[in-house]
Amino acid sequence: MHSTTRQLFISRIVLLAGAGVPALAASASTSATVALSYVARFYSMTSSTSGKKVVMKNKWNSIEVETNSRRAWINGVMVWLHHPCRKGGRGWAIREVDFKKLIDPIMRSYAFMPPGVPTTVVLDPGHGGKDSGAVGKRKVYEKLAVLSIAKRVKTHLEAKKIKVRMTRTDDTFIPLPQRSTFAAKADADLFVSIHADSAGDPGASGVETFIMSVAGSDSSNYYGKGGDKSAGKGNLHDAANAVLGFSIQSNLVKTTKRSDRGLRRARFSVLKNTSCPAALVECGFLSNPEEEALMIEANYREAVARGISNGILGYITLAKRSRK
Ligand SMILES: [Zn+2]
Repeated sequence: MHSTTRQLFISRIVLLAGAGVPALAASASTSATVALSYVARFYSMTSSTSGKKVVMKNKWNSIEVETNSRRAWINGVMVWLHHPCRKGGRGWAIREVDFKKLIDPIMRSYAFMPPGVPTTVVLDPGHGGKDSGAVGKRKVYEKLAVLSIAKRVKTHLEAKKIKVRMTRTDDTFIPLPQRSTFAAKADADLFVSIHADSAGDPGASGVETFIMSVAGSDSSNYYGKGGDKSAGKGNLHDAANAVLGFSIQSNLVKTTKRSDRGLRRARFSVLKNTSCPAALVECGFLSNPEEEALMIEANYREAVARGISNGILGYITLAKRSRK
């Protein structure tokens, strides 16, 4: 069975299973918590502990949550919670905002899809022109690598009759606000920005996908640092962002076989100011010698492009099926 079909089938079962459990409050406050025992019951899962993890699973799906940590895994793919899992009066608990705006949209995607089936996708290769983005030791330029990957994604999507627009098709500088405006003018249904990573530690490696942070909560890389917690247009589609981001990250990990750095949250300009569901992909570290070498290879670029396009197509399939 096609994996997306299977996920949907599971989702329907899960909804029925959850029907007898009292509904949570309609709005997700950032301080309210949900006990993991509730989460397990909601999805008809068994719950056990394994080392530092609470492992919840049923025949089809699994959710693992690391205790005193923001890391969790849905069907083996890492997702970053906004807030750590902590022990409370009812045992280990996560914040309601993480349950309602991350875990549940991924688990029961069809129930959270915005109306309509996406037909136009805007791809946004990061940087360009005077802005090189990251540059590796072997002089691999982020701006050029991501342009090549974006063009490959375009080919895959067009083969499936999806209309694709690109914020740039050559080595031109495009200011950040212009990228979101471009998406609005193109009447984009989905927006995916493509980047390559860089870190001070040359050992840092792997792939990650970012979606807009939920209003009032810290971004993943700034937890507890008193940074920006503001809302933006990107919050219009919190649930759909989670579905899109998870679909891309799962597929990217599968096709690239690089380490899974997870689905994360950030207030990057293009995520904050774009008014359709959006995600930003980091497809490897140019500061890591092994990944910089991979980034020059056509095979790796193709693997990244396949991961991104399969992720987008997975989202579109869910949107189609949720209409039936
Ligand atoms: Zn970048």
